[in-house]
Amino acid sequence: MPVLVASDLDRTLIYSAAALALTMPDARAPRLLCVEVHESRPLSYMTETAAQLLTDLGDAAVFVPTTTRTRKQYERINLPGPAPRYAICANGGHLLVDGVSDPDWNARVMARLAEQCAPLEEIRDHLMASADPLWVRKHRIAEDLFAYLVVERELLPEEWVKELAVWAENRGWTVSLQGRKIYAVPKPLTKSAAMHEVARRTGADLTLAAGDSLLDADLLLAADKGWRPGHGELADADWTAPAISALPERGVLAGERILREFLRATRTDAPL
Ligand SMILES: [Mg+2]
Repeated sequence: MPVLVASDLDRTLIYSAAALALTMPDARAPRLLCVEVHESRPLSYMTETAAQLLTDLGDAAVFVPTTTRTRKQYERINLPGPAPRYAICANGGHLLVDGVSDPDWNARVMARLAEQCAPLEEIRDHLMASADPLWVRKHRIAEDLFAYLVVERELLPEEWVKELAVWAENRGWTVSLQGRKIYAVPKPLTKSAAMHEVARRTGADLTLAAGDSLLDADLLLAADKGWRPGHGELADADWTAPAISALPERGVLAGERILREFLRATRTDAPL
């Protein structure tokens, strides 16, 4: 029986330079591997140790990258280890099988959204009308599924984000603030639904998960065991649950710790 490991990527396994949070003297910093290049520049990293752990994990479990990124944003990540058979993109809107989106899965998700929450257009119009150009850098629609803004964090009024969250909640949408991005995502669009689908297809009976943001909470709750780093939205909210371990590590070293925990659990908790 395989073990399924569904992990968020950004600020869980991979880190931008701004998110590394290294605190040791430079001479003792871990060697880093660049795993994403964007517009010909290095963008995301993991430690070399984490890269080896991820390679080992890919051999021992069904590793499923589980991200809010669009397919295009996901495809430029070059993770070490065997190529994952399954990947979850667009917060569960796309289930990639050998790199190709399963059209039936996407159609099911689209139908669920049409039934259960306010349409994307309404959210987009509200963001356009209410977000101040003073601090908004970009308005983006991802995969025709959800919206996000790129903002100047220093100028962003916290009160505005809180008001948006309440407005969105009443329409069946969730708001998540991660670094310079504010996401508005339909509540029925979840990483956990896609993870359950992969568990069904692979026959996995132990599921492990990790994530750092509000959009990962449903994934963590759906897994048999979960880990969250010492940084991020969930840590800031002191969020936890019975099967969740809140790790003390922050930044890129948290990614290494999470992979260590995945491997340990895969080797010791797997049902015979
Ligand atoms: Mg994340």
